[in-house]
Amino acid sequence: MQPLELTAVDLVTAIRQGDISAVQVAEAFLNRIARADGAINAFLHVNRDAALTQAADIDARRKAGKPLGPLAGLPVAVKDALCTADQPTTCASKMLAGYRPPYDAHVVARLRQADAVLVGKTNMDEFAMGGSNENSAFGPVHNPWDLSRAPGGSSGGSAACVAADMAPVAIGSDTGGSIRQPAGLCGITGLKPTYGRVSRRGLVAFASSLDQIGPMARSAADAALIMETIAGHDPGDATSLTDEVPQYTSMLEKPLTGLRIGRVAEHFGPGLDPEVAHGVEEAFAAFKAAGATIHDVALPHAKYGIATYYIVAPCEASSNLARYDGAHYGHRAEPGKGHRAEPGKGHRAEPAAAFESPLVEMYCRSRAEGFGPEVKRRIMLGTYALSSGYYDAYYAKALRVRRLIRQDYLDAFGQVDLIGGPVSPTPAFPLGEKTNDPLAMYLVDMYTVGTNLAGIGGISFPCGFTKGGLPIGFQLQGPALSEPLLLRATDRYQRLTEWHRRRPQVTV
Ligand code: GLN
Repeated sequence: MQPLELTAVDLVTAIRQGDISAVQVAEAFLNRIARADGAINAFLHVNRDAALTQAADIDARRKAGKPLGPLAGLPVAVKDALCTADQPTTCASKMLAGYRPPYDAHVVARLRQADAVLVGKTNMDEFAMGGSNENSAFGPVHNPWDLSRAPGGSSGGSAACVAADMAPVAIGSDTGGSIRQPAGLCGITGLKPTYGRVSRRGLVAFASSLDQIGPMARSAADAALIMETIAGHDPGDATSLTDEVPQYTSMLEKPLTGLRIGRVAEHFGPGLDPEVAHGVEEAFAAFKAAGATIHDVALPHAKYGIATYYIVAPCEASSNLARYDGAHYGHRAEPGKGHRAEPGKGHRAEPAAAFESPLVEMYCRSRAEGFGPEVKRRIMLGTYALSSGYYDAYYAKALRVRRLIRQDYLDAFGQVDLIGGPVSPTPAFPLGEKTNDPLAMYLVDMYTVGTNLAGIGGISFPCGFTKGGLPIGFQLQGPALSEPLLLRATDRYQRLTEWHRRRPQVTV
């Protein structure tokens, strides 16, 4: 039995039945990481020894007939934005280099309780700000389908490690598309649950009204398995939903007959790559063949999604990131050592005399040294938009447009059950292509930010490949708490198609 080729569902069954040991499975994936990750850079930390000890303990408990958790022996990689008490948590920032949180994020604690084996922490855009993983302070992730291309972001490490068989499943976070877009560009399945479905406690905050944790996997069935462990109420997160968690895995069976899927004409406007458009249309046809009906729906305010998101998210980020001042948290500049300018890195040297006190100097230098250019850009944008003279013109207005965007979805879901479309306007783009053009990078999020602004659910999965061999992603969006339907529709599609089974050839 070759562990790297088994689905998460099959791995869990095989380990429980004793067909394969948890140690064999952990070794297979850890060895794959050792071989392949030099070329991909998906991991910021590999938890080899602890993972093997944990796997050996699971095997011993199984042999002794003791109870095992639902994910016993399943290797899981976790985005480095989630706190882990036994592993560093850096958010891919110099600001948190070497940081060891005093506690596990709620999701990490649940994974541990379920006996999942935590294999390591995955690379990402710094503080989850970005769409290509190039904003990591520890180097970009390379897309396993073409190492010269970006894997998407910000959960690019989580997407790439699943695509390259370095972990059967991974955990990501999605503030404006960071699970769905990299899943789309790496040819895997990623679910952004409804806001509040999965606890955010211990997820390093980016934009608290938008952030949501979710599974990244090879299939909807595997994502459903992970959701059963990570979803659910947590009194430690004030925005956590109290609704009962459905048994996602047992709700996959029903056929799609009568399912109404909406199609938004504006999704097929300028900027959409023709090969992506073709793949997406083919997926609509496949859903139709499976018994669904396709209907035109309108999201009239979706065109304001990027403008709205790029006010709301930076405003919240500027507030959330105020805590990294070198005293409460994070990198502290050494006293008296003037910060040196790094040309082209967005840093500026300050003469010592410019600071009103040594404390202010320490704050400023710590933040100047610790944060990368995109994080600084967001903090400045957010601080500006929240400042007294501009608050109404930018932040308050963005909140009003956010309501309109949400209302569009509520209206559309009066007519259809789900909305389908592209997840990203292009397939994976070359590393470096958009790094000097922040606006071009922001536009990559045009199909994904609406889901977060509305607080609803979305899933993305592969629906074809370009002639050049790059995956094309399809996105389904559904009303609040529609995860069972999103997973079921995707699972049905994946039973009828083979796209999600294709693996990249990573030559290592
Ligand atoms: N690409 C988006 C951004 O840069 C989304 C990031 C996210 O979802 N974390 O903000």
